[in-house]
Formats: sequence, C-alpha cells, structure tokens
Amino acid sequence: MPVVEEDIRYLIQIVKKDMEIKEKKRMLGNIPPRIKAIDRELRKMDDDLNETKQILDKLDTEKRHIDQEIKAHQAELAKKKEDQNVVKDNKVFKAMNAEIEYISKKIDQAEERMLVILEDGEVRRGEVAAMTNKINSEKNKLVAEKEKLEQEMSVTDDALKILGDEKVRILPHISEGVRRLYGRILVAKGDSGVANLVGDICQGCYSRVPPQTAHEVRRNDQILKCEVCGRILVYYESK
Ligand SMILES: [Zn+2]
Repeated sequence: MPVVEEDIRYLIQIVKKDMEIKEKKRMLGNIPPRIKAIDRELRKMDDDLNETKQILDKLDTEKRHIDQEIKAHQAELAKKKEDQNVVKDNKVFKAMNAEIEYISKKIDQAEERMLVILEDGEVRRGEVAAMTNKINSEKNKLVAEKEKLEQEMSVTDDALKILGDEKVRILPHISEGVRRLYGRILVAKGDSGVANLVGDICQGCYSRVPPQTAHEVRRNDQILKCEVCGRILVYYESK
C-alpha cells in the first residue's frame, strides 16, 4: 500500500478515537452538575425536615411551660378560694374576688394558647410524616443515581486514558511528515488534527467542502486539508 494511503488509514483510526474522546468528555462534563443538583436536593430534604422538627420541639417546650403555668394558676386559685372561705370582712372578700377573677382569666388565656399549640403541633406532625415518607421513597433513589453517576465518571475516565494510550500507539505508524503536520494542527485545534467528511461537510468545523475536494478526499489517497479549519480531511463511513 502506498505510504500516503497507509498514513490516511492510521489518521482514520486516530480521528475515530478523537470522536470517541470528544463524546466521552461531553458525557463527563454533564455529570458533575447533576451530582451537585442531587446533593442540593438531598440537603434540602434534610433541612426542611429538621426545620419542621425544630418548630415541633419549640411547640413542645412551650406546651410544657404552659402546662406548668396552668397548674400553678390552678393551685393559686384553689388556695385563694380556700382563703376566701374564712374571710369575714366584706371588702377583703370582694378584693379576693377580683384576684380570683384575674387568675381565672390567666388560666383561660393559657388554655386558649394551649389549643393553638396543639392544633399547630398536629399540623406540623403531619408535615413531618409526609416529609419522612418523601425522604424514604426518594432519598435512596437519588443516592443510587449519584453512585451510578460517580461510577460512570470513573469508567469514562478510565476509557479516556485507554483511548489516549491507543492514540499514542497509532502515531509512530504514520510517516514523519504527516505526523508532524497532524501534530501542529492538533496543537492549534486542541481536539483533533483530523476530520471526517460526511457528505461534503467537514466534521471538524461543519463547513462545506467544494465538491471536487470532497470527491478527492473520499479517495483517501492524498493529504488534503479543510480550507476553513485546516484539519486533515479523511473519509470513512460513519454511523
Ligand atoms: Zn473544517
């Protein structure tokens, strides 16, 4: 096989690897944002639950406090009523009545607040149950998805290393002049120094190649470059 045709055969191998590398890098780029989003979702679930639990704790504390308050008031009330029974003086009796009324009012207020707390507590407990259900059903799914993505990332990383090694092994087969040309274009372009032609479109820059050039590229028997991006053009059947 003439040297140039052999060179092109190897360049085709290289551009196929480059396409694979590009695709894998694209995949790799998508994974970290999704993992971050999952972490955010997981954190939010826990935060929401903790927030509601804290509100419940506060309500419980207040409930205990009011409970004590009511008991203290009731004890005070009983004592006042007892004292009142032995009072002879009308004026003192009346004054004690006012005090008893005052304490009773305090008890009423505390009991009203207690009702509000109990109702609120019930609502919050329902919320906690719903959140816990949601966490139970969704957390495992998200964690599993995250683990899968991390695994995918590591597999893709490995595949990229292998592809890179394979490319390095192909290079020595190419004749020096073409290899240098390829190297220069690769450095300039960053992703690949070669591009496949699909129809008459350069797959490196997606510009149209003149029909005569496209025809010549498809013969794969001379080194031709894309006039727009400068990559070496080759031709192979792509899926
Ligand atoms: Zn091009």
